[in-house]
Amino acid sequence: MHNDTMNPGLEYQAGTPPQLDSLHRELPAGTLVDKYGRQISYVRLSITDRCDFRCTYCMSENMTFLPRDQVMSLEECLRVARIFVQLGVSKLRMTGGEPLVRPNALWLFEQLGQLEGLRELVLTTNGSQLERHAPALKAAGVRRLNVSLDTLRPERFRTITRIGSLDKVLTGLEAARQAGFVHTKLNTVMMRGFNDDEFPDLVRYALANGLDISFIEEMPLGDIAGRCRTYISSQEALAGLQQHFDLIPSAESSGGPARYWRIPGSQTRVGFISPHSHNFCDSCNRVRITAQGELYPCLGHNDATALLPLLRRHPDDDGAVRQAIMDSMGLKPKAHDFTQQMDAPQVVRFMSMTGG
Ligand code: SAM
Ligand code: SF4
Repeated sequence: MHNDTMNPGLEYQAGTPPQLDSLHRELPAGTLVDKYGRQISYVRLSITDRCDFRCTYCMSENMTFLPRDQVMSLEECLRVARIFVQLGVSKLRMTGGEPLVRPNALWLFEQLGQLEGLRELVLTTNGSQLERHAPALKAAGVRRLNVSLDTLRPERFRTITRIGSLDKVLTGLEAARQAGFVHTKLNTVMMRGFNDDEFPDLVRYALANGLDISFIEEMPLGDIAGRCRTYISSQEALAGLQQHFDLIPSAESSGGPARYWRIPGSQTRVGFISPHSHNFCDSCNRVRITAQGELYPCLGHNDATALLPLLRRHPDDDGAVRQAIMDSMGLKPKAHDFTQQMDAPQVVRFMSMTGG
C-alpha cells in the first residue's frame, strides 16, 4: 500500500539535472556521483526513530514518534540498501534512533550481511542491547561497532540519557568484545559543564579496553535550548587532552568530518568529529536515509527526497527508486551551513530522525 499524502513537500519529481546526466554518462555504470563529481560510496540508514534513551542533546523529553505505517518496513530497508549497493555503495552504517530496539532488526542485519558488493556493514548503537545481540550481529557480518558513551559516572549517565543505565552499556561493550568485535569506537558528545572534566578518563577507559574513541562537537539539530552554553570545539578538547597524553596526528580519514590522533604504544585512535568545519565537505562520500525513507544528501541541509512513496508505488520494479536516488544527488550542496550560532536550530530535524 502506498501513501501519497506522506511528506508531500519532498515528493520526487522525475528529471535528471543536466550536469548529473553527463557525469553519470562518463563514469562506469553503477556509480553514484553528485554534481560536484563526488562519488557516493557510503550510506547511513536509520531503521527506527525510536529509542530506549532520551539523550538531552538528541531528543526532547516528550518525543512523539512516527506512526508505524510511515516508517520503512524491514523489507523496504533491505530493498533500499540493495539498490544503493547496486549503485556502487560499499559501506552501510545502520543507525537510528536505536537500531537494536527495532523488533526483528537482526533479520535485516542477516540479509544485509549477504548483499554482494557490500564491503562494510557497520552499526552505531547506544549499547543498551548489545549484551543480547552482540554474537548474532557478529555472525551476521557486522564488521565494527560505534557505541555512544558520554560519561563513566552512573548518575551523570542518567542525567544525560534521562532514562538509560550505564551498567547495561558497559556490559554490552564487554559482550561485544567477547563476541569478537575489535576496534569498537566510543562516540562521546562534548558538553561543557556535563562531561568536559571526564575526557581524560574516557580516553583512559578506551586505552584500557582496546577501544577507539571519537569526541563529537554538538550539532545544532532539533529545537533544544541552551546549546551555546554546552558547545565545546574539537580544538579546545584536543588542547586539554594533550596535557594528559602524547597525541600523534594520524593521516587516517573516513572521508568525513573526523580527524584522528594516535597514542604511542597503543592501538587506540582518538578522533575529533568537527561538523562545524567545512574542511571535509570537498571529500564527502556519504548520504543519509531516515526511517521514513527520506534521502538526505547532506546532514546540514533540509533538502531531501521521499523514497517511501516510490517504494510502495513500484513494489516490483526498482527503476523509479534507482532513478530518484541518482537524481537526488543533484540536491547535495557543495558544503553544509552549520555556523557557531548554536542556540537556534539550524536544521529542524532531531538527530534521532536523520541518524547520526
Ligand atoms: N542510538 C544510537 C546511538 O546513540 O549511538 C544511534 C543513533 S544516535 C542519533 C547517533 C550518534 O549521534 C550518537 O553518537 C549520538 O551521540 C550522536 N548525536 C545525537 N545528537 C547529536 C547532536 N545534537 N550533536 C552531535 N551528536 C549527536
Ligand atoms: Fe537514542 Fe542515540 Fe539519540 Fe541517545 S543519541 S537518544 S541513544 S538515538
